[in-house]
Amino acid sequence: MKVKINLAKSSGFCFGVKRAIEVALNTAKEYKGYKIEMIGDIVHNEDVCRGIAEAGINKIKKLCKSKKKVFVISAHGIALDVINKAKKMGYVIVDATCPRVKDIHNTAIEMEKQGRTIIIIGDKEHSEVRGIVGHLKKKPIIINDENNIPVKKINKLAKVGVVVQSTQNVKKIDRMFKILGKCMSDVKLCNTICIPTKRKQSEIRKLPLENDVIIVIGSKMSANTGRLYEISKNINHRTYWVQSDKGLKPVWFNGAVKIGIIAGASTPDAVTQKVINMIERAANG
Ligand code: SF4
Repeated sequence: MKVKINLAKSSGFCFGVKRAIEVALNTAKEYKGYKIEMIGDIVHNEDVCRGIAEAGINKIKKLCKSKKKVFVISAHGIALDVINKAKKMGYVIVDATCPRVKDIHNTAIEMEKQGRTIIIIGDKEHSEVRGIVGHLKKKPIIINDENNIPVKKINKLAKVGVVVQSTQNVKKIDRMFKILGKCMSDVKLCNTICIPTKRKQSEIRKLPLENDVIIVIGSKMSANTGRLYEISKNINHRTYWVQSDKGLKPVWFNGAVKIGIIAGASTPDAVTQKVINMIERAANG
């Protein structure tokens, strides 16, 4: 029997990733004769990063004083002191931060101005979270898990404002907001998960129920892809996460008739297409 491949409608680049790549590539064209540098990855995907490096944008660890240099800020954003330092050193700043990430910065900054202690729900090691922290005057509290909420500590806070990393699990945040809402009397809960993340998660809650096997495509560095995998795996144990067609194993498709596919927000369509071609070849002989 021929297998049927069902590709999630929300698969692939979100608008923030598309925009960041365009901004970086246009910068490479516009600033001929300049050294173009960035800290971290434009987005969390190896294929995309290779393309950005080939366009002449170098990844650096430290800013360096020199003339004719451009500093590109990634889609995840970066701390304000890094931007200010780059400006002082004479870099031209090109900002590819996703507008939805900037919204999170502004929401957190505004709540801090109101005298609120900021809580960020997210992964403290992720560049987006570090960027949010780096836009605040005071050190925020970072929580990553509903089982790890420091209830005693936050109980004592007079005024609190909560923001969320854009790619967190929607259902987990709903549960955490219920707990946080009960812990404190004056708390502003701002669910800053972005719409592309919500769309992808909504599809991946249905896709594993309607298909025998689910393939999630994206870099192991990609937070949103990781979340899609987690959600799908909990619903359908025949869920597999690959970075490209090279990671596929024919045994996964034994007896499968319907195969669901979803690609993370930083996965290029060309990578997804190769995965589809390979599955079709393997499954249909
Ligand atoms: S996942 Fe959301 S926040 Fe991140 S780049 Fe895409 S649109 Fe922006």
